Amino acid sequence: MDKLKTRFAPSPTGYLHVGGARTALFNYLLARRTGGTFLLRIEDTDQARHDESAVAKIVDDLRWLDLDWDEGVDVDPGGGVVGRGPAGPYRQSQRLAIYQQHVRQLLEAGQAYYAFETGEELDAMRQQARARKETFRYPRPERFPSRADAEEARAAGRPVAVRLAVPDEDVTIHDDAFGEVTMPATELSDFIIQKADRDGQGAWPTYHLANVVDDAMMGVNYICRGQEFLGQTWRHVVLRAALGFDEPGYCHLPLILDMEGRKLSKRDGAVEVHTFRQMGYLPEALVNFIALLGWKVGDRETYTLDELAEAFTTDGIGKSNAKFDRDKLLAFNADAVAAAGEDRLSAAFADYLSLNDEAAIPAGDEDTLRELLRACEGFRTFEDIVAKCGVLFEPDDAFAYDAKAVKKVLARNDGAGFAVLGELRDALASCDWSAGAIETLIREYAASHELGMGKVAQPLRVAVTGTTVSPGIGQTLELLGRDKTLARIDRCLREAGHGA
Ligand code: GLU
Repeated sequence: MDKLKTRFAPSPTGYLHVGGARTALFNYLLARRTGGTFLLRIEDTDQARHDESAVAKIVDDLRWLDLDWDEGVDVDPGGGVVGRGPAGPYRQSQRLAIYQQHVRQLLEAGQAYYAFETGEELDAMRQQARARKETFRYPRPERFPSRADAEEARAAGRPVAVRLAVPDEDVTIHDDAFGEVTMPATELSDFIIQKADRDGQGAWPTYHLANVVDDAMMGVNYICRGQEFLGQTWRHVVLRAALGFDEPGYCHLPLILDMEGRKLSKRDGAVEVHTFRQMGYLPEALVNFIALLGWKVGDRETYTLDELAEAFTTDGIGKSNAKFDRDKLLAFNADAVAAAGEDRLSAAFADYLSLNDEAAIPAGDEDTLRELLRACEGFRTFEDIVAKCGVLFEPDDAFAYDAKAVKKVLARNDGAGFAVLGELRDALASCDWSAGAIETLIREYAASHELGMGKVAQPLRVAVTGTTVSPGIGQTLELLGRDKTLARIDRCLREAGHGA
C-alpha cells in the first residue's frame, strides 16, 4: 500500500466542528494505516472570517481527540503558534510570497490573466447570465491585459485580480467515495486565483490557489475532505495541471445530517468537539462515533483509535449521508466509560471539571474524584455525576430543598421522616465515618424501629441533598463528611420548623 501523505487544513473560524473532526480523523487514519504522514495546515486566507484564537482551539481539540500529527502548525507551551516540519511555514498567511510567485509564473506562461471588474460589475454580469438562464462564465478577453495595463488600472483605482484561463475541456475527478465525477466544460469558468490587493499589503491568493500550491509543496498525495468541496474540485484539477503538479488521490466524505435530515446545527445540540468535552464525553467515545459517520466495515461498531488505524480504508466510505444520532453517541459514551479504567476516568473527570467551574467539585482532589466515580458507577457522562453529586460540594446553606421530596419523604405521616432525622442525628454524631459503618447504623435503626431501609435512608438523603436521588446513602454521607452531614440535618430540621 502506498504511503499516504494526508492533511487536515482547517480555516480558523472557531472551535473544531464535528464535521472537521471527522475529516481530521479520516486523514489521520489514512496516514497511520499506510505508514504515511499526517499534516496540519492552517488555511487563513479569508481574513474577514479569521479568528486568531481558533488556531489554538483547533490544536487543543485535536490533541484531546488524540489525533497526533507529524508535521505542521502547533502551539508551544507558552501559547505561541509555531510550525514543525520541513515544508513550513504551515499557515497560509505566512506564505503569500510563495503564492504570488506561482501566480507570476502562470501570468508569464499566458495561463492566467489580469481582470479589473469590481464586485458590483461582476454581480451585474452574473444577473444577466441568470436572466438568460445561462451558467455564468467569465468572458475571457481576446487579448490578455499586460502588466502595464494592470498598473494603469490600479492607478485608476480599479481592483486588479488574476484569473486562471481554464481549458475548454470536461474535467473528470476520480474520487474514492463518489467514483468518477465529471464537470462538463460548459459549466467551467475562468476563476480568480489572486484577489485584488485592497490595502497595499500585497495580493492574497484565493483559497483554491493556496490550497493547491500548498498540497503540492508539502507533498500531500491524498485529499480527503467534506463533500461540500467536491463541486469545486475541478478548479484544483485544472490549477494543478497548469502548474505541472501531480494529481493526488481524492476522497470526499458524505454530508453529516441530523436525525430529521437537515444540516447539522447548534439548534438541536452540540456540534463542536469542545462542547462535547465540556458536556463530559470521553474523547475515545467521540472518536469511535465520528469514525462511523460515513464509514463502516461489516457490522462492527466498537473500535479504539488503534483498531481504527488498522481497519480503516476508503472502501468503507459510502456516498450516503451520515446521520448524527445523539442517542447513539450517548450509548457509545456509556460503553466507553464502562470499559475505561479508574485512572483514565479520574484524569478525564478532572479535565471535565476544569472546564466547568460552576460544578463545585474540586478538580484537584483525586481521592474525591475516585470516590465519586465509584459512587456513581453506571454513569453515562461526567455531567451525570455532577447532576447526582454536585450538591454535596455546594455550601450547606445554599442548596434548595425540593418541596415535593420534603412533603413526601419528611412531612408525610405527621412528620415521621423528620422524627427519624432527629433521632439519627446524635447516632451519626458519634459513629465511625465510613460508608459501611453508616449503613450498618441505618440498618440497625431501621430494624429496631420496624422500618424498611428506605424509610430511614430517604429522609437522610432529602435532608443532605434536597432531593431523593443520590448514590447509596452510606457513600453519600461518607463523601459529604460528618460535619456537613450534621449541618445539613440541622438546617433541614430548622427550616422545616422541627428544630430544637
Ligand atoms: N480550508 C478548507 C476548510 O475550511 C479545507 C479545504 C480542503 O480540505 O481542501 O475546511
